[in-house]
Amino acid sequence: MSAPIPFDNLLARTVAQAGVPWQAHAAPQPAWLFFNAPLAQQLGLDAALLGSEQGLQWWSGREPLPGAAPLAQAYAGHQFGGFSPQLGDGRALLLGDFVGPTGQRWDLALKGSGPTPFARRGDGKAALGPVLREALVSEAMAALGIPSTRVLAALRTGETIRRERPLPGAQLVRVAASHLRVGSFEYFAARQDHDVLAALLAHAIERHDADLRAITDPAEQALAWLQAVGQRQARLVAQWWAVGFIHGVMNTDNMAISGETLDYGPCAFMEAYAPDTHFSAIDSHGRYAYDQQPLIAQWNLARLAEALLPLITGPEDSAARRDWAVARATEVVQGFDAAFGQHWQALGAAKLGLAADADPALLTDFLALLQAAQADFTLSFWHLAALVDEPQHPHPLLGTQSGWQPWQQRWHQAWQAQGAAATQARLRASNPLYIPRNHLVEAALDQALEHGSLAAFERLLQRVRQPFGAASEAPELWRSATPAEQRGYQTFCGT
Ligand code: AMP
Ligand code: MG
Ligand code: MG
Repeated sequence: MSAPIPFDNLLARTVAQAGVPWQAHAAPQPAWLFFNAPLAQQLGLDAALLGSEQGLQWWSGREPLPGAAPLAQAYAGHQFGGFSPQLGDGRALLLGDFVGPTGQRWDLALKGSGPTPFARRGDGKAALGPVLREALVSEAMAALGIPSTRVLAALRTGETIRRERPLPGAQLVRVAASHLRVGSFEYFAARQDHDVLAALLAHAIERHDADLRAITDPAEQALAWLQAVGQRQARLVAQWWAVGFIHGVMNTDNMAISGETLDYGPCAFMEAYAPDTHFSAIDSHGRYAYDQQPLIAQWNLARLAEALLPLITGPEDSAARRDWAVARATEVVQGFDAAFGQHWQALGAAKLGLAADADPALLTDFLALLQAAQADFTLSFWHLAALVDEPQHPHPLLGTQSGWQPWQQRWHQAWQAQGAAATQARLRASNPLYIPRNHLVEAALDQALEHGSLAAFERLLQRVRQPFGAASEAPELWRSATPAEQRGYQTFCGT
């Protein structure tokens, strides 16, 4: 039989210090929860085989997956502002990387596969709820066109794990353009291991920024890469803003240098528009609130800049050279503002059906209306499309606001020149109807946990995989906001 996955394992082969070789625990009684056949096909993998009973044996650690070179990756991280020099994959394993049909290289990783040398006091396990949650929300993000790690497979382990109460154990298989994080670079910088730092940078450039290989000066190359990472992260956070996504735990160990959304622990979507919205139980001060996300992404980029500083400074370690390196890196980090601003301006304008050069006040004034009305973010934008043909029609959520009429007139003026059809097309392409609403996610996970049924999970998954679905096929349930009695929603770091 040929190998089920054409593992190449570039990281393990070329930067062995990036992790510790390790084996997954064998799950005692694995059972399927979810297999992502469309994703397998996209990756050029044999969906029938990998989603079969044989696949289950591989993913559950009961049989070694041919060609894999499992590695617990080392990383550090700034968590809520404080630096931990050693975090690492405590309950995850990089199985390996391979090149897919488009030439793109992918990582496959397990999560919840047992304790590793980085587990500290953790049990290395994951519970059913957070595993299903990651599958649901990451599929939603991908369908919304937002770069994200994906879940290829999820399974029950057959174990009962100990949390605040006993819970069914589960694990997942994650696909990512890479699992390198800002914290991966901080780890080797903190140890002053500059050779591995340079090797990791070369690996990242090879995978994500191959065009930068042409830059021969190491300092210029590191600076150009820092800028490329900043550009991706600026775009990512603007995309989060555009759908009301709140990541919830933007520690530097959760910021992928690929620009993908990584770590679905405490994330949630904002419903009523309020810029200071945050859901995570451990984020009581709102460090990672909706409106803080660009600032935090830039702060994280500054931590990446610091980690790269020895490579930017280079062997000529004079005070003048160090000053030069700091000045250049600072300039790149400051460039984040403009990059984010441009992306958000374009995405925000598109959400109003307008081209990127639209008057930015239209968006800020619209958001002020939403905030005053405590209106649902997703639906407030979605309803605009119907108002293009019927300008006299009041907005269902905003129509009674005193500022609605004047805003509506300005908006009408703004799109007139490009025409109704183009405006509507832009509105529909930019404004989803279905997001994984908090109460729906919780109900689906509850049903799986309390009744062992995946029916609600599967129905919600189907919905959020078609987020722009037409209104005619929309039972009210799927788009209703969280009921008042369930407000004060809280999320918890993936446990
Ligand atoms: P997170 O908050 O998910 O970004 O995780 C932060 C760190 O805690 C990472 O190093 C994880 O590997 C580790 N970690 C989280 N949960 C566990 C667990 N149950 N067992 C071992 N390590 C864990
Ligand atoms: Mg994490
Ligand atoms: Mg997590």
